[in-house]
Amino acid sequence: MAIQTVNPYTNKVERTFDEMTEKTVDLLITQSAKAFTSWKETSYEERAQILHKVAALMREKKEHLASLITSEMGKLIAQSEGEILLSAAIFDYYATNAKTFLADKPLEPENGSAYIKSSPIGVILGVEPWNFPFYQVARFAAPNLMVGNTVLVKHASMVPQCAVAIEELFNEAGAPNGIYTNLFISGKRASALVSDKRIKGVSLTGSEAAGASIAAEAGRYLKKSVLELGGSDAFIILEDADIDKTVEWAVVGRINNNGQSCVASKRFIAVEAIADEFIEKFKEKLSNLVVGDPMDSKTELGPMSSEEAAVTIIDQIRRSVDAGATILLGGTRADMPGAFVQPTILTDLKPEIPAYYEELFGPVASFYRVKDEETAIILANDSDFGLGCSIFTKDIKRGEKIANQIDAGMVFINHPTWTQADLPFGGTKGSGYGRELSELGIQEFVNKKLIRVS
Ligand code: NAP
Repeated sequence: MAIQTVNPYTNKVERTFDEMTEKTVDLLITQSAKAFTSWKETSYEERAQILHKVAALMREKKEHLASLITSEMGKLIAQSEGEILLSAAIFDYYATNAKTFLADKPLEPENGSAYIKSSPIGVILGVEPWNFPFYQVARFAAPNLMVGNTVLVKHASMVPQCAVAIEELFNEAGAPNGIYTNLFISGKRASALVSDKRIKGVSLTGSEAAGASIAAEAGRYLKKSVLELGGSDAFIILEDADIDKTVEWAVVGRINNNGQSCVASKRFIAVEAIADEFIEKFKEKLSNLVVGDPMDSKTELGPMSSEEAAVTIIDQIRRSVDAGATILLGGTRADMPGAFVQPTILTDLKPEIPAYYEELFGPVASFYRVKDEETAIILANDSDFGLGCSIFTKDIKRGEKIANQIDAGMVFINHPTWTQADLPFGGTKGSGYGRELSELGIQEFVNKKLIRVS
């Protein structure tokens, strides 16, 4: 994949970057490993100072950074600005809390005394996706840098200007050379890097195929890995839900980020008693969305991230219809240049239809009508993924009881799956393993060293 910016609103190539040579990558890894030897000796306060500065610079340059996101992957400009603020909040969060999260933990052994010390482990490789180009990097880099690890980031090839901008923020914040390094390399080369002795761990956010490739290498070379992969979140609507509010959230859950979020609500499961009312209102709202220029603040649905992404999802729709699915809304490209796909609803889905099990990474909702709560839970769990899930009901106790029966890493009651610095993020089953964000996210690439005093 060429490392370049192709604006999905126009499908025009805006900038191209050269892939780094083996020699350059080797030098950069050496630099990162060398930086580790001094970075791990710095105090939490020294590290926090750099991270707070990065956060402040992000806020200061919010408009410019947001415009890079929108021009590289088509996110609506207001959402791009929101992403910059969220990323800054993640840097501040870890800068403020890392010392507490990583403090020595006293133990109470039968005899003697002991405690657990959290130590950094070295250079960590992060392989990141294009869909939240700043946020994904923030949730990997901020905790690891506060631990005292140094990071190499192989960002998605289609967001190179975002990749460069993040590295520049570190430089401007006065970060020591080598603690944060951008690598312009292909995905394949990223997998091959895992064998490098200087790299001690790897974290990937992306597809199952890329995750499997990284995990295989990490397994072969006995390195710790964290995988944040795809999802097909269920959105369960019970008969006692507040329908109007639920429909509002259903639209946000499905089309936020132009439908390209791992935790987007993708499978809408309504119990019979309210299914008609829900689907009529949901369809109405989706059909009235303003589709167009992501830089225009009035636009509600922008293009997909690339022409290839649009072609892929249209193919998923076509294969599903050929296998018996019904289109309730949309189903085709929007009539304009750029990588646009109309808001779409598919129904009559069964396990043999592609859209039943495949992740629909775009503005395409699957709608299921079920007889009761129990059937809704069975259907929600009938997925290879286990990232998030949401349940809409006025009875919170009932929602919590259902949450307990859902095979997912995150369950939200009366809200689509969402993210913030202090809530753990991650999945189970095919959605990967490990957690990012919150206290859990900082404990992944840490040596939990036992110190025992006799
Ligand atoms: P992708 O193709 O897997 O790309 C993600 C990253 O992996 C990119 O940097 C890519 O590099 C790299 N890559 C590709 N093939 C690789 C390989 N064989 N070995 C190592 N690295 C490889 O995924 P995507 O299409 O960009 O992102 C969409 C997917 O990510 C969806 O499934 C989505 O649900 C998931 N996602 C999950 C989370 C989460 O937190 N669970 C968050 C966001 C997205 P190139 O760009 O150079 O190919």
